[in-house]
Amino acid sequence: MLVVMKAQATPEEIRAVCAYIAQLGFRAHPLPGAQRTAIGITGNQGEVERGNLEELSGVAEVIRVTKPYKLASRDVKEEDTVVRFPGSGSCPDAAIGGRNLAIIAGPCSIESREQAMAIAEQVAASGAQFFRGGAFKPRTSPYAFQGLGLEALNIMAEIRAKFDLRIVTEAIDNESLDLVAEWADILQIGARNMQNFSLLKRAGRQQKPVLLKRGLSATLEEFLMAAEYVMSEGNYQVILCERGVRTFADHARNTLDLSIIPAVQRLSHLPILVDPSHATGRRDSVLPMARAAIASGADGIIVEVHDHPEKALSDGPQSIYPAQFATMMTELEQIAPVVGRNLPRGSTVNSMAD
Ligand code: PEP
Ligand code: MN
Repeated sequence: MLVVMKAQATPEEIRAVCAYIAQLGFRAHPLPGAQRTAIGITGNQGEVERGNLEELSGVAEVIRVTKPYKLASRDVKEEDTVVRFPGSGSCPDAAIGGRNLAIIAGPCSIESREQAMAIAEQVAASGAQFFRGGAFKPRTSPYAFQGLGLEALNIMAEIRAKFDLRIVTEAIDNESLDLVAEWADILQIGARNMQNFSLLKRAGRQQKPVLLKRGLSATLEEFLMAAEYVMSEGNYQVILCERGVRTFADHARNTLDLSIIPAVQRLSHLPILVDPSHATGRRDSVLPMARAAIASGADGIIVEVHDHPEKALSDGPQSIYPAQFATMMTELEQIAPVVGRNLPRGSTVNSMAD
């Protein structure tokens, strides 16, 4: 159910409606919009008695939401969600969603301080605003490199301070989630965990934005239901990410499903990024797919970059060189205005332009 408040409803009226919903034993999710606030109701198994709700002061109408996902649905929130990262000190404002494209770049894994610093310096110089790097790696083989853990989080904290890059890193279980939530700016939930419901709920109970990658064989509805798990716990800052799905095709690691972008945008207000690295598994396919992703309306890119990919401990073959990343930024900057977008460059580039 969705309670739509009148445009002129006061904060007190909104609070009173939320309190009423809580007293019924349900959860109220106030969702402020440009015109009016809507309040989503979750926790009810059947239909909520709408009679008394409609009588409350400031309420315009009460609507039944028929989609299985509620808070992720455009029926509940019409305007696009923009996840904002307020600037501080020399670090400029950033956002994911809205007119500006977001670019997240960095190695698959943090392998050493030197490796991470060198890559961070180069992606910052090309104008990335976000740095990715795995500290906890979900590897197919238990014998493969599992990540440096806390040491990697420390290295990324240094990178944030030195290059004004916001940090995106993955949590793979409850323990790593608590650590990552403390250290990172965006907490990533990987494809293999997209339906780890207890992890999703835990991600919903912390304060940081969540980058949710599409499962290897997840339908659109399953993807949005995973986002709903996070949001149902009160964290509405969810960023979706298409990273390719399993098909019979064997020319690429996965099949990049760009058609999910307009489909997501029709059904949901959440921003959606594209990961051309995991989608293709091949360095030579990353740039063409990044261009296509922006052309098809994605809100940005998350891409793997490595200065010595032949020595990478994970995902070397799909990691692009820093020089290729620089080219990617220039090309995406040119494509952006064609689709009504803008590619802001991070602080290093801005300060060089000053
Ligand atoms: C990653 O981003 O390094 C990763 C493991 O991605 P995915 O979960 O999409 O495979
Ligand atoms: Mn990877």
